[in-house]
This record gives sequence, C-alpha cells and structure tokens, in this order.
Amino acid sequence: MKYILVSGGVISGVGKGIIASSCGLLLKSSGITVSSIKIDPYMNVDAGLMSPIEHGEVFVTEDGGEMDLDIGNYERYLGITLRRDNNLTTGKIYQHVIDSERRGDYLGKTVQIVPHLTDAIQDWVERVAKIPVDKFGLEPDVCIIELGGTVGDIENSPFIHAMSELQTRVGKCNFLQIQVSYVPVIGTEQKTKPTQRAISDIRRAGLRPDLIACRCETPLEESTIQKIANTCQLERDQVVGVHNVSTTYRVPILLKNQGFLNTISRLLQAESIQKTPEVV
Ligand code: ADP
Repeated sequence: MKYILVSGGVISGVGKGIIASSCGLLLKSSGITVSSIKIDPYMNVDAGLMSPIEHGEVFVTEDGGEMDLDIGNYERYLGITLRRDNNLTTGKIYQHVIDSERRGDYLGKTVQIVPHLTDAIQDWVERVAKIPVDKFGLEPDVCIIELGGTVGDIENSPFIHAMSELQTRVGKCNFLQIQVSYVPVIGTEQKTKPTQRAISDIRRAGLRPDLIACRCETPLEESTIQKIANTCQLERDQVVGVHNVSTTYRVPILLKNQGFLNTISRLLQAESIQKTPEVV
C-alpha cells in the first residue's frame, strides 16, 4: 500500500480536491487501483448537520454516510464506491478515542492528543485504505489522503503530526506528499514568496513535500517553476503548474503533460506506474 497525502497552503479553496482527484485518475488510467480518504479538520462528526449554503452539498455514500462533497468528486473521477469511514473529521476521531477510553481500552493511562489521538488517526487511515472500492474487490494499491484546511491551522495540526508519523510507520518509499500552493499574479508578475513561506511552514510542522502543485490564474512561467524549485530545494520536475481552466476535468491532462506520473513513479519507486494513455 502506498499513500499520497495532498495538503494545501497559502489560501483555502486552492484546488486540493481537484488535484487529488486528478492524481487518482491518472494513476487509475495506468492500471493502479486507487482509494481515497478525505480528512476534514472541523469538529462536526460528519457533514449531515452542516448548512449547504455555508459548506456546499452533502454527499450521501452507499452506506448512508452524510459526507463532505469531495467524497462525491472522488467517486465520480475514479469510478469507485466509498463508505462513511472514507471521510474522517476531528469530531469523528475524537468520538472514536473517547468511546475507546470509556470502554477502558487504554487501561488506566492518561489519554493524550499525542500519542493516542495521533495513533488512532494512523490506525484509521491504514484500516480504511485497505478496503476494496470497486467491483473487483481487490485491496487498493494507492490511497490518496486529502487533508482539508490549510497547513498551519490549529485544527489540522494533530492530523499533520499523525501524517508525519505515518510516513515513518509505512516507510518513505511508500509515502508521498503533494503540497498545493497558490501563486498570485501582481500586474504580470507571478509571485513565489507565499509558496516559499507555505513550504517552510509545512517543513516546520514535520512533513517534507515531494511535489508542489502551484495553482495560478495563468500558466506558470518556466522562470517561476525554476525559482520555486530552487528556493524549496526540489528538482525541476517536482514543481507543477495548475492554472485556471474552463472545466476542472482538464486538470488531469495538465498534470499528465508535465510528466506527473513519471515523477510520482520515481519518488515512490513504483515501476508499475507507467505513462498513462488517454485519460479524459
Ligand atoms: P480545496 O479542496 O482546496 O478546497 P477544491 O478542489 O474544492 O479546493 O476547488 C475549489 C474550487 O476551485 C472549486 O470550485 C473547483 O471547481 C475550482 N477549481 C479547482 N481547480 C481549478 C482550476 N485549475 N481551474 C479552475 N477552477 C478550479
């Protein structure tokens, strides 16, 4: 099992969900079985009691779970069937740990965010990632984990901590992190400073992004890509641009044209991830 964590920096609504779904679609097109988990750092147990005006539509899974709308994106992009456990929230994981504590599962210990909550997050992710999501009933090869919110928010710090531990638990060659960032355009200049800051924030929090996907209104210039790669100590192919497109179903092609699958394959040391044929 390999894990791809997609997190975001600079601003919310930067396009993490679309990039995570597109990445999954590209992997699926090259014959990989892909599952996904959406982590929402809000305190609600699920999206059932949240206002659609504030939060968007509620997506109902086959097992009756009232989920964040991103779960619907994953089902549509990847042609898979997810369950209520594929959406993990702060409320859900606290409820899970508190139920365990009430049952006496911690045997008199003081229950803490680290290690009890962070271990519970990792156990949850490892368990759910293995659940088959298509008609073939096979264990998925790759699980894409989308972490909602923005790195640096108080709400998602236990999840960031858990993900950095998960990376150690499963081994670096089985864990890849994509940080989605935003490159604002002032006049005609594409500004890289917010991305540099976001990357140093996430490194301080214990994760080292392997790929940076830069959302920008305009196609990323070569000099912008080079500058981000240099200042973030990454190879040129570890930075990809995702500019505004007329339909988000074009994003997989944007990524494919930048050699995204080859880069993922190299970083995950997964020879089975080949160049994809037509995808959309
Ligand atoms: P996040 O997961 O970071 O909150 P989403 O993936 O939900 O962000 O995207 C936020 C909004 O931006 C959605 O309405 C989505 O359709 C739109 N969007 C994302 N990527 C692009 C893109 N490359 N071009 C145009 N619109 C995009």
